[in-house]
Amino acid sequence: MRIILLGAPGCGKGTQAAKICEKYDVPHISTGDIFRENIKNQTELGIKVKAIMDSGNLCPDDVTCELVKDRLSKPDCVNGYLLDGFPRNLFQATELEKFAAPDVVIDIQVNLDKIEKRITGRRSCPVCGGSFHIDFIGNTSICPTCGGELVIRKDDTPEVIKERLSVYASYTEPLIKYYADKGVIKVVDGDGSIDYVFEQICNILG
Ligand code: AMP
Repeated sequence: MRIILLGAPGCGKGTQAAKICEKYDVPHISTGDIFRENIKNQTELGIKVKAIMDSGNLCPDDVTCELVKDRLSKPDCVNGYLLDGFPRNLFQATELEKFAAPDVVIDIQVNLDKIEKRITGRRSCPVCGGSFHIDFIGNTSICPTCGGELVIRKDDTPEVIKERLSVYASYTEPLIKYYADKGVIKVVDGDGSIDYVFEQICNILG
């Protein structure tokens, strides 16, 4: 099954993506994670996108589409995958159609008033890629999954969150109509608990 997860920054995409991939045994392809890995390893791509990511803007379409096309051509993707953070605009969505149209697009909808609190309380693990909220893990700096040192992502500050939300509204939100017109969108209420959101997703995926 080829799944796309849509939703505003902080809607819980990463958390749900991990649970979906475990249950349905598909690879989790997060463009944000791929970019962050490149930044960590100081690759040419990482150096190119670091300032863009830190500002909350989108990385160039050509680089992003190429990267996804290459990743989807790997053998582990033959039976499906979950795309998290891609596509992010109409150009990327139409590019994706050329090599891999999705079977289902799940849009996690959250109350935008709650997003800032969700993101500013987020702690991320650069080692395993996990992301946790201080409401659940408390004030620890140790990753509960792998023991790595938790950090606050550079783009999880209030100023950058504002920019990311504005980018989302301008460029990513139009994808909801784009996929609705194709008849593949399914909307999920993202304002409840992790289990509540996951249950709705499982009802869709079967
Ligand atoms: P995320 O982890 O999905 O919130 O993405 C973090 C950042 O990575 C975004 O704010 C963008 O700068 C960049 N990024 C991730 N996915 C894409 C994409 N599909 N197109 C362009 N930039 C992206």
